[in-house]
Amino acid sequence: MSGVKPLLPGQATLGVMGGGQLGRMFVHAAQSLGYRTVVLDPDPQSPAGLVAHEHIEADYLDEAALDRLAARCEAITTEFENVPAQALERLARSRPVAPAGAAVAICQDRAAEKAHFRACEVACAPYAVIASETELHAVDAALLPGILKTARMGYDGKGQIRVKTREELAAAWAELKRVPCVLEQLLPLQLELSVIVARNAAGEIVQFPLQQNLHRDGILAVTEVPAPGVSAALQAEASAAAARIAASIGYVGVLCVEFFLLQDGRLVVNEMAPRPHNSGHYTLDACEVSQFELQVRAMTGLPLRPPRLHSPTVMLNLLGDLWFDAAGQLRTPAWDEVLALPGTHLHLYGKASARPGRKMGHLNITAASADEARRVAGLAAALLGLPAL
Ligand code: ATP
Ligand code: MG
Repeated sequence: MSGVKPLLPGQATLGVMGGGQLGRMFVHAAQSLGYRTVVLDPDPQSPAGLVAHEHIEADYLDEAALDRLAARCEAITTEFENVPAQALERLARSRPVAPAGAAVAICQDRAAEKAHFRACEVACAPYAVIASETELHAVDAALLPGILKTARMGYDGKGQIRVKTREELAAAWAELKRVPCVLEQLLPLQLELSVIVARNAAGEIVQFPLQQNLHRDGILAVTEVPAPGVSAALQAEASAAAARIAASIGYVGVLCVEFFLLQDGRLVVNEMAPRPHNSGHYTLDACEVSQFELQVRAMTGLPLRPPRLHSPTVMLNLLGDLWFDAAGQLRTPAWDEVLALPGTHLHLYGKASARPGRKMGHLNITAASADEARRVAGLAAALLGLPAL
């Protein structure tokens, strides 16, 4: 890093705001490099809090707790985008915080996010901001059918309603309690893709290959890399767009940019997340460096090396539904049978109770060829009771 000394492994303590599974995998990566780790999360059973050296159990706006985190750590990151901006700003008074509060704030608000994409000359879905009755009535009919999304706090398809007519739009906005929303035109999707980039304060930037993602019920279900439906030209276009989106705000950390490939072959950006992403979990087993190690390297100012994919891979998300049989009784999935398959890597997040839709873990399947990874993923899906690939 130009002029600034990196925080070397084995010497520093790293902090993370949030104790979910992304924080847990960040902690694992930091610890394997010899860093001490501190997690701030109000939940005493948080997946990351359970494995960190220290867990500060407090609200994200608890000033004394934030000051304690800052006092303990040489650098701080976040594992979720809805961390209050004031909290990051307070931490940043005394410690480097990556990504910065200002970058996270853009990702927290779909309207700000879309304005940023436009400024970077990356196409997104046609949209309108709806924050008042006047804006509701002024909506261009060309945006229908569309998807009404709350501007803030949406995830896993929550806070979204599909609408076909003006009447449905008005009803949907009422159902969303008339909070500021974005109406997006419903696009004819061919595929969903994502790109993960990491950038450090020196401006070094590296990225993983394009991920091809399948969603079920608004939640990521399967990621496949290399993306089978994607040309080299499209890969280059998405990579360049993601790099522009990160570099133009001086982003430091790991950033995931989600794209749609439309049926007519056009690429449009959907949204971005200022942190490692569910679609990057395959990097733990299929790449030389994982997205979580890159998060550590970016925030500490260590060199970023391009993370080579060494094996074709399929990731299956493991939702809480798998913990229930057809009669609704709790069960343990047949991990022994799954792990008997070649190239399977199981990651469970240590969550005490399973609920339908809750992200409990993921299974990475690596193989010598993409066909073999898909074949084994199909066998694993059948054993687990997941839909066929
Ligand atoms: P997450 O945080 O889990 O990525 P989210 O709740 O932020 O999800 P989006 O990514 O905006 O939601 O949308 C969820 C899914 O809905 C997308 O992955 C895509 O399948 C579908 N979708 C969203 N916007 C559009 C659109 N404009 N046209 C067609 N499909 C869309
Ligand atoms: Mg999304």
